[in-house]
Amino acid sequence: MRQRKFAKLIGTTTLLLLSLQASAARLAIVIDDFGYRPHNEYKILQMPIAVSIAILPDSPHGREMAEKAHKQGREILIHLPMAPLSKQLLEPDTLLPTMSSEEIDRIIQRAIQKVPYAVGINNHMGSAMTSSLPGMQKVMRSLSRYNLYFLDSVTIGDTQATKAAQGTPVRVIRRNVFLDDVQSEAETRHQLNRAISIARKNGSAIAIGHPHSTTIRALQQMLPTLPADIELVSPSRLLSGKPVGGNHHKWGKLCEIKEAPITVTSQDYLAVIGDTLVDNPIVNTVSRYIQKLAGNKSQDKTE
Ligand SMILES: [Zn+2]
Repeated sequence: MRQRKFAKLIGTTTLLLLSLQASAARLAIVIDDFGYRPHNEYKILQMPIAVSIAILPDSPHGREMAEKAHKQGREILIHLPMAPLSKQLLEPDTLLPTMSSEEIDRIIQRAIQKVPYAVGINNHMGSAMTSSLPGMQKVMRSLSRYNLYFLDSVTIGDTQATKAAQGTPVRVIRRNVFLDDVQSEAETRHQLNRAISIARKNGSAIAIGHPHSTTIRALQQMLPTLPADIELVSPSRLLSGKPVGGNHHKWGKLCEIKEAPITVTSQDYLAVIGDTLVDNPIVNTVSRYIQKLAGNKSQDKTE
């Protein structure tokens, strides 16, 4: 009798959870400039799996970070250096608007080889490159050969990335918030709250940060206590249409990102919560409630 009651409770709770998941506002966080500061970057790799990373192709630790993140099932982007307007120290193979299509093809192909498992690209700097329509058209034509989405970092208001992708199969998404233009924990917390507000208003938002100590500390504080209506997702979850990773290149495969299951049996329920939904605050609360009812406190992984 008690078992039947428990099964009924589980069924009701599952429906409740699935409907809450469906209505949650989605927030994607990408941490750029990976590959130079492994000490800080390892702390990012300890964050929830939905926090994605963008790796600089010529960085000394880029491949190591890609391997580690891929093993975790974390989404990886190529952080492709593009010409800025201001004078700054440039990465090797920075894309310039004046480069030929062949040169841009070569640089993109090399970047794909240097950052294995990437499913998307976003621009490092790039105010000069992304504001050039002919320049970005060359980039989008080149990207058409791979199943990679383009996340426009929007380093300049006049970015032409979306326009340049018209008529190509490349899907473009745009950053809404930079988490750490000002490097302080308070400012990053403020920017993350702004991203949450935008996600609630628009249904989704994309925030980009960097492996600064202040950003890491602010995220460590805030991510475990995200509001219940906010679902942390990888950027590819915000793309419409055909899922990424449909090609057969080894570098184009989407990491296996665990999703909420459609059906859950009562026996598997606690294990499923523990293994796949551990980062969701609604699930964590309900999970603790169910475990209390079931008298099983040993599987509580949220502590
Ligand atoms: Zn960057």
